[in-house]
Amino acid sequence: METKYIFVTGGVVSSLGKGIISSSLACLLKARGFSVTIQKFDPYINIDPGTLNPYEHGECYVTEDGHEADLDLGHYERFTNVRMSRANNVTTGRIYQSVIDKERRGDYLGKTVQIIPHITDEIKRNVKRLGSNGQYDFIITEIGGTVGDIESLPFLESVRQLKWELGRNCVCIHLTYVPYIRAAKELKTKPTQHSVKQLQQLGIQPDILVLRTEHEIPAAMLRKIAQFCNVSADAVIQSIDVPSIYEVPLSMHRQHLDEIVMAKTDVPVNGEPDMAPWMQFVDKMKNATETVTIGLVGKYVELQDAYKSINESLFHAAVHNDRRLKLKYIHSEKVTPENVAEMLDGLDGVIIAPGFGQRGIEGKFVALKWCRENDIPTFGICLGMQCMVIEFARNVLGLADANSTEMNPSTPHNVIDLMEDQKTIHNMGGTMRLGAYTCDLKEDSLAARAYGRTRVNERHRHRFEFNNDYRQRFEEAGMKCVGTNPDTGLVEVVEIPGRRWMLGTQYHPEYSSTVLNPSPLFIDFIKAAINR
Ligand code: GLN
Repeated sequence: METKYIFVTGGVVSSLGKGIISSSLACLLKARGFSVTIQKFDPYINIDPGTLNPYEHGECYVTEDGHEADLDLGHYERFTNVRMSRANNVTTGRIYQSVIDKERRGDYLGKTVQIIPHITDEIKRNVKRLGSNGQYDFIITEIGGTVGDIESLPFLESVRQLKWELGRNCVCIHLTYVPYIRAAKELKTKPTQHSVKQLQQLGIQPDILVLRTEHEIPAAMLRKIAQFCNVSADAVIQSIDVPSIYEVPLSMHRQHLDEIVMAKTDVPVNGEPDMAPWMQFVDKMKNATETVTIGLVGKYVELQDAYKSINESLFHAAVHNDRRLKLKYIHSEKVTPENVAEMLDGLDGVIIAPGFGQRGIEGKFVALKWCRENDIPTFGICLGMQCMVIEFARNVLGLADANSTEMNPSTPHNVIDLMEDQKTIHNMGGTMRLGAYTCDLKEDSLAARAYGRTRVNERHRHRFEFNNDYRQRFEEAGMKCVGTNPDTGLVEVVEIPGRRWMLGTQYHPEYSSTVLNPSPLFIDFIKAAINR
């Protein structure tokens, strides 16, 4: 079949969950046997979110091909089980960079380079790139930001042109907000009407409206919105708050979002999507009664989006083990030797979070020492693994000043050090060790048992590494390097055998955990936490 292009725009306010709606639609279409992918266009000037502080934009997600991406790509993978790539996330910065590069090469020789048509053409080329080899039946494109933002205009103009060019192979879903005024006890449709009008002024007639709401919208009101907005009555659906994002695909299917999209793009609607495995997950999620309590020690704990993929991976693994997840955020800056027992009290397991820089690092060491001495299942990820190594060096090997050269460039015991090929790098953007690399695991390791195999492929995002000069001393003292990269010898996994579950990964297993395929390491970690 010809590739169908679905655009998802948002109006009224941000944070309506365009990413979850896009992911849910993709999930349903995939369950109908179609090949689907999702891409996100972000209207900011940064080339990618890799240089953004998590306070600005939440977690930076990493694709297998080593792209630092918007966290929505994590949702896309978790909902669809389809791998995303560099081509699935494009920013204004990347569009302009590519146009300016072409201008310098002389590709536009003689012409004035302008937003229309050059920037918009570049956007259109990027939208269609994923469809170029006919690999996908549906390409869902989420436009970041809100209609009315100056920054979004070139993207919306491109959508307008594409809608015109693609005809029935293209639909636009517009997501808006229907607020409830408590004093008047009324839901209000005016913001939606205005937002659709704004879209229409830009030449885009939405085909489907998805209304975010905290209260059930009555049928008569949905009809009224349809009438005001030139949208067919059956194509106005509501997205009411649900306890878990993983219920959204089911809620969208009950309102026929998948069928509406298919009908509007002339795809015959027959049968039902096979949502059985998904339902199984949702049933397990709803039926779990016992709790597993995990503490996440990190410095961005005020912000739930900063550790998105870890939160979701823990959740997948808890559901897999028939448990409700109780996640406690522990501010690493506040952990001291005096209060650590109290702060970590009642936890079944502890995650030591990834991160950069000195802030909050000492609290991580204190938490790690306490966990090691009290044999609490502990999982260190990236910086968390590096901290595990440093804590062990300080308190078991007796190297009091051991550190990472990231935190102290002149430490006498650089147990974590800059990777050789990082030493000549000056640019910050896109220059870390990024993306999936192979790791070979020792046969008798905890990690190999958890994965059920000895060769894995997991994603990275770091500049520093375990210093192999110290390897023998660590191994003799009881911290084993059980996972290494076969090509470079870089240490990827350390563990302390004899403990319940003390394991650190230089890579980020959380990036590859999906609903239908939870991360084996997270499953095993939660199991150990439950057994404690
Ligand atoms: N700051 C560390 C490094 O660059 C760890 C990075 C991370 O936790 N993602 O190696």
